[in-house]
Amino acid sequence: MVLDEKDNRNVWEKIGDYFSANSIWMKWYCTGCGAIELPPTMTSRYDMERLGMGPMATPRQADVLLITGYLSTKTLRRVIYSYEQMNSPRFIVAFGSCTINGGIYYDSYATIGRLDKYLPVDLYIAGCMPRPEVVMNGFNELIKMIKKGQAKGWKHYQENYEWYKKNQLDSLGEVIIKDEFHE
Ligand code: SF4
Repeated sequence: MVLDEKDNRNVWEKIGDYFSANSIWMKWYCTGCGAIELPPTMTSRYDMERLGMGPMATPRQADVLLITGYLSTKTLRRVIYSYEQMNSPRFIVAFGSCTINGGIYYDSYATIGRLDKYLPVDLYIAGCMPRPEVVMNGFNELIKMIKKGQAKGWKHYQENYEWYKKNQLDSLGEVIIKDEFHE
């Protein structure tokens, strides 16, 4: 999500972004079939750790929430709760066509269409399912975006929380998140 091209960061924010970009811990939320592409991305063939990336056990310690395919409405609730537990700056990468427009489940009553109606997606990796090469390209792009201060989804979420919350409630009926977090 590139919200504007103007770089308003101060020097400390630039330094912070530089180091964030070189040490990315991910919480993988393996929802759809695309998750099967993660093991080759992580292991010796593509070896994502050489870019300073790796999996993290809990969202509280993660920088990136990685969502790997279609989301049922039930799963969306858990994904929102996971995102809310992460510290800022926090980033979302969504891969697979299903996260972009619903993919082959576009007309299903049980899945959501566009993920970015509910949470701020910084980067989409398109495909059904995206190959590890494309996933690695996506991660490289995310690193560049963070370094340039262009991965601002978490700020957009704070500033437009009412809009996101309305969409979440319209779809789920209830989302228990402490409002004071967003004040
Ligand atoms: S985009 Fe394709 S591979 Fe990914 S979850 Fe949807 S149907 Fe499965």
